[in-house]
Amino acid sequence: MNSNLHRTYKSITTCSVAALTCFALLSCATSPEGRNQLKLIPDEQMDVMGAQSFEQIKQQTPITEDKNIQQYVLCVANKIIPQVAQNPDPKQWEVVVFEDDQANAFALPGNKIGVYTGLLKYAKNQDQLAAVMGHEVAHVIAKHGNERVSNQMATEAGMSIATAVLGGTQNENSTLILAGLGLGAQYGIILPFSRSHESEADLIGLDLMAKAGFDPAQSVPLWQNMSQAGASPPEFMSTHPSSDTRIKQLKERIPNANIAYQEAVKKGQRANCKL
Ligand SMILES: [Zn+2]
Repeated sequence: MNSNLHRTYKSITTCSVAALTCFALLSCATSPEGRNQLKLIPDEQMDVMGAQSFEQIKQQTPITEDKNIQQYVLCVANKIIPQVAQNPDPKQWEVVVFEDDQANAFALPGNKIGVYTGLLKYAKNQDQLAAVMGHEVAHVIAKHGNERVSNQMATEAGMSIATAVLGGTQNENSTLILAGLGLGAQYGIILPFSRSHESEADLIGLDLMAKAGFDPAQSVPLWQNMSQAGASPPEFMSTHPSSDTRIKQLKERIPNANIAYQEAVKKGQRANCKL
């Protein structure tokens, strides 16, 4: 890199540091569980991106034609969604069941939830399915998608800054340091956030399912079934926490969730979704 280019590169990097700092100051948010979040993208923009991705998935993956399965999944979703304080209208959400053997489900910004038919082999009753649906709805309302993209942007800016600090030369040392930073970025920033997202989604989801009249204790056998799912771990298994950690955290929270569940049962609101 010649010195002019180098100066230009350095000033661009300095600008991006300033911009990032401004963004970061403007973009600190708090998750429903009280965790600080970095959100660099307007939620409306994330919603548009989520909706576009969902359309693509719908074009690429067959939607199940099994009306019983569709109704069953929608029955569970339509019990859980009204418990979402921010967005309780099921009409504002889109829940689609895809014909696919993987034991998986996913959530996208813009209130989009996808469930694969393979999940029903492991989510063996309405309460276990509700644990998954609650978890996915929780990812959406906790804005985990925005946070994940924002963290990625911050990591990439961090890498540019490191290159500039090292003089922009790719000598052996800087390559080594950047490799180390890359690992640091991967294991120090991205994964722990993902783990915290998963734990947070588990706990928020547990409260949602309980309020909706699903038995929160069934979340434990669900995760046990899922941990036996084998070679292709589902989204909510793939980024850890290990199933042991996850089950331990759930067990700590179940007594609290159980209070909401018992209240729902007393009011005659125990869920009754059948396949
Ligand atoms: Zn998840």
